[in-house]
Amino acid sequence: MKLHTILSLMFFFAFAPACVGLKTNNQDNWAFTTSSSEYNRDSSQLVRTAAVSNPPAQAAPAAQAARVNAPASGRLTLGNYRTSYPITKVVAQNFTVVVDPGHGGTDPGALGSGLRESDLTFIIGVLLHRKLSESGFRSTMTRWDDTFKSLENRVLVAKNQKCDLFVSIHINAAEATNACGVEVFHKSHLTRSIRNSSLITTSRSAAASIGNELKLIQGINWRGVKQDARHLYVLKQSPFPAVLVECGFISNANEGRKLGDIRYLDEISNRIYQGILSHYRSR
Ligand SMILES: [Zn+2]
Repeated sequence: MKLHTILSLMFFFAFAPACVGLKTNNQDNWAFTTSSSEYNRDSSQLVRTAAVSNPPAQAAPAAQAARVNAPASGRLTLGNYRTSYPITKVVAQNFTVVVDPGHGGTDPGALGSGLRESDLTFIIGVLLHRKLSESGFRSTMTRWDDTFKSLENRVLVAKNQKCDLFVSIHINAAEATNACGVEVFHKSHLTRSIRNSSLITTSRSAAASIGNELKLIQGINWRGVKQDARHLYVLKQSPFPAVLVECGFISNANEGRKLGDIRYLDEISNRIYQGILSHYRSR
């Protein structure tokens, strides 16, 4: 084998997809769990399945607190939930955020606590998109229902926009059930065709702003802002500033219980929104 092939293999086994966790620090004894596709260039055919929620729309002011942990379908859905968090109006139509709910369709992502990662990322994504749109940002999503989207397709959606910030949403899982917490990864690599180093600086700054909000969530285990050591596709191949938020572990009983509550998912979306707002203002 050529040296670069050996190095590639060494790298592959040294790092794992976010939801297929390998050990990344001494705090958690990570081990392989089930599926994920952040890392792989998965270009399987698009498969459409039933939508999991109502179509995205502007947030209504009325609050509707709801715990929807075990709906009849066995899937967590947004239903007619509306946020009660206040929205800050800004004139930011020239700033486009692409919200990327991880997984979907034939790829449910991580499984645990009776939940599917793809459902949770979609709910957080829709709630975030609504807040951004109502606030005055240009916002779009890489998927609008429970549909499989390849990683290339997700980046392509952003390429077709004037994307100022790509925000990928994921949920973690690990065999070590004590692993828990929230972390934000930022774009840290350039490629032969993506050479603008300011993309890394801006991505790091956006991740810090989002992290500064997320770590304020009561009872959260804040794991920090981290470089993209795993060369995640949507971060590495994004020709725009990009971050990936791992919103907690559904393999942890306590965190899984919280993630099964739409109000908690809304709080996460609100913190991410506040972080994006802070990042936008600090540019
Ligand atoms: Zn994931």
